[in-house]
Amino acid sequence: MAQIRIEKLRKEFGSFTAVQSSSFTIEDGEFFMLLGPSGCGKTTTLRMMAGLELPTSGEIFIDGDEVGMKRASQRDIAFVFQMFALYPHMNVRRNIAYPLLSQGVAKADVKTRVEDVARILRIESILDKPVGGLSGGDRQRVALGRAIVRRPKAFFMDEPLGALDAEFREHMAEELRALHDRIGATTVYVTHDQLEAMQMGDKIAVMNHGVVEQLGPPQQIYDWPATRFVADFIGSPPMNFLEFQGMIGIGGDHVVLDGQRIAVPTSRQGAEGALTLGVRPEHVRLSDASPYRARIEAAEYLGTTQIVRLATANGPIKARISSADVVRPGETVGLDFDSRTLTLFAGERGRALVSEANEGVLVHG
Ligand code: ATP
Repeated sequence: MAQIRIEKLRKEFGSFTAVQSSSFTIEDGEFFMLLGPSGCGKTTTLRMMAGLELPTSGEIFIDGDEVGMKRASQRDIAFVFQMFALYPHMNVRRNIAYPLLSQGVAKADVKTRVEDVARILRIESILDKPVGGLSGGDRQRVALGRAIVRRPKAFFMDEPLGALDAEFREHMAEELRALHDRIGATTVYVTHDQLEAMQMGDKIAVMNHGVVEQLGPPQQIYDWPATRFVADFIGSPPMNFLEFQGMIGIGGDHVVLDGQRIAVPTSRQGAEGALTLGVRPEHVRLSDASPYRARIEAAEYLGTTQIVRLATANGPIKARISSADVVRPGETVGLDFDSRTLTLFAGERGRALVSEANEGVLVHG
């Protein structure tokens, strides 16, 4: 059980800054995701917390203790890598017992603890089998068993499911989350897969170029992205961006796109110049009555819904609508937006403007 806090944590490799200056708290028992594209600094952040990489500056606290000077082995965490290396000449029981035996734990205690872990992971029936003939899933469970048998304060996992095929990966993701709920240890998990992050995480820190751009529960990040980058990285298809030159004042409740008035949540901030209206595909409605026009380019059938690609004066847009609705490529239609769900982005970094809808939940990293 552990609360982990980092303060202004920074890592430079020569003249390159991999992690800019991160500060956040991971609460005790939380399943915390570090999410972002390749090279954004997720692994470096995790390795610094684990004691495998020395920070250039900043502090790391585990349960209030500053652990910067402590080696990885003294931090009482378990690091689970993508490649699970098991000892091939030992059976499952000995593989799981190994960390305890090397710590000198009494044999009787080792037996009880290994059997407890096997029960949690539901692998009692294979305890005495050699690891050589095990399926991929069972190997993964044995490796997890070896990590949890030590009862560490926290688990750090770096893309542990990265090498698995899609179906098995989804299954293991469910198992990992269920395991977390059973043992309740703080888990920090690195992934570049937004679906995995949404599916498993209590909280997600979305990283880009060494910066945490947003931190919050999955739904908050999905509904109220703090930046254009976050809005684009999360969601499939991602949020649409309608670009326009315009302005909105404090208290403003609409913007003008292609000469048409579009209602937005009352703004708490003013901005003008190059602005972007963000709208999720499921919040776009096709409506003959609406004066904001778009041309239907194509439709992609997905079972209960379809993704309709449209061209507007402010750029391409995708709508997720019912497959029961008939659309004809080449036709012109009106678009209506669910105004309560809209986000306006402004400035060079595409920061979300604070409005009555996202006020209080919008947390910039
Ligand atoms: P990936 O999933 O691709 O590993 P990541 O978000 O985990 O991405 P990091 O591994 O943290 O990214 O790397 C962040 C940046 O720091 C990358 O540009 C990487 O090339 C660089 N980097 C990492 N380790 C070193 C090192 N030891 N020396 C020099 N540069 C490094």
